[in-house]
Amino acid sequence: MSDALPLLARSQAAVWHPCTQMKQHETLPLVAIERGEGPWLIDADGRRLLDGISSWWVNLFGHCNPRINLALRRQMETLEHVMLAGFTHEPVVELSERLAALTGHRLGHAFYASDGASATEIALKMSMHSWRNRGRPQKNRFLCLAGSYHGETVGALAVTDVPIFRDAYAPLIRTAMTVPCPDARQAAEGETAVDVARRAANALEACLAKHHAEIAAFIVEPLVQGAAGMIMYDPEYLRLARALCDRYEVHLIADEIAVGCGRTGSFFAWEQVAGPATQSGGGWPDFICLSKGISGGYLPLSLVLSSQEIYDCFYADSSARAFLHSHSYTGNPLACAAALAALDIFVEDKVIDGNRARAALLGQLTQAQFGAHPRVEHLRQRGMILAFDVRDASPGLANRFFSAALDHGVLLRPIGSTVYFMPPYVVTPEELNHLVRGAAAALDRALA
Ligand SMILES: *Cc1c(COP(=O)(O)O)cnc(C)c1O
Repeated sequence: MSDALPLLARSQAAVWHPCTQMKQHETLPLVAIERGEGPWLIDADGRRLLDGISSWWVNLFGHCNPRINLALRRQMETLEHVMLAGFTHEPVVELSERLAALTGHRLGHAFYASDGASATEIALKMSMHSWRNRGRPQKNRFLCLAGSYHGETVGALAVTDVPIFRDAYAPLIRTAMTVPCPDARQAAEGETAVDVARRAANALEACLAKHHAEIAAFIVEPLVQGAAGMIMYDPEYLRLARALCDRYEVHLIADEIAVGCGRTGSFFAWEQVAGPATQSGGGWPDFICLSKGISGGYLPLSLVLSSQEIYDCFYADSSARAFLHSHSYTGNPLACAAALAALDIFVEDKVIDGNRARAALLGQLTQAQFGAHPRVEHLRQRGMILAFDVRDASPGLANRFFSAALDHGVLLRPIGSTVYFMPPYVVTPEELNHLVRGAAAALDRALA
């Protein structure tokens, strides 16, 4: 019976969509996607949309990628899932080894979950529990940056400083302390992003000096604060933060859920802070969280990489000292197989190198299109993330822009007055041109 209704009406009735005021779909129609093909999404009417934000930042190598499909088909014929407590399997071992190698074996222990918010919570729990196991249970608070986003479960909201996501749940949350964000847009006349970074690091030092005895960890989104509106800052801040965390005995958690997997121009954003992971020397975080792109955008998978020092805090005869956290689908073999196929593509296609040319072209095209636009400011880029702000944006700009962009064959979804591009790593020069031209047409219509 319900099949007689159009798909959009059925979706509105039966599916509660994320990050959505459902009533808005009275006027803004849902888009029903039938299939994916490389960076393109194709809707029920055959309309082609270039996926300019990688489907919420997860897709790396296009939709229905033949190599990832093949790896999944093979894995599916062998083992779809087995519990990871007491059992193990080749894909989870190989993935853990390869990720450890990518950190130069500094973060050699991988703990798995299914979504980003859970990875955040795992890192927070591990940090606090490791201090407790070391006889310092009073270190049980957390520190985050203003504007931080680390997920939306109740624990992750404690370190998420985005009022629209957090305020309604404030009574449930033990809110973390926040320190100023080193947002490069704060640079005054004659100042550089490095000056802003140093100023923010001074504020961090003041906070740590006062509260370090109760702080377990400082959590950051390295280089780009995504959900806050693609806020970018200089790596110098993270170098200083690492040194301060060492000095005040506070763990540093790098949430690379959005910025990892090549997004910022290196596999880990942190490589731009401490140099390639093959070099010797310190300067790395105590934890790295990964999700989003790690499975190539195919399956829910997240993980926390942690150091030997952290791991050793839990290694004992007592169960109470162990990290007992678990999820039913921890280390799912299909998700791990997709991740391994994605890592293969990074190597075989020299993706990080190829993205340099893609990012440069995206920068040139947007500079030419928007560089002198009277309503555009703070055009900024870090690797495969490019953003700008619309000056004097009126309410509803993001929705108007989104709708107009769809009419021009591109999927772009501004955050407030910030328009950003985060395309999959398979876009061609022609496709980038289509993306930027579509954005320009959408901006004109959204401002009209
Ligand atoms: C998306 C995101 C998360 C949360 O991941 P989910 O899978 O949506 O729970 C956490 N941190 C950052 C930086 C993110 O961008």
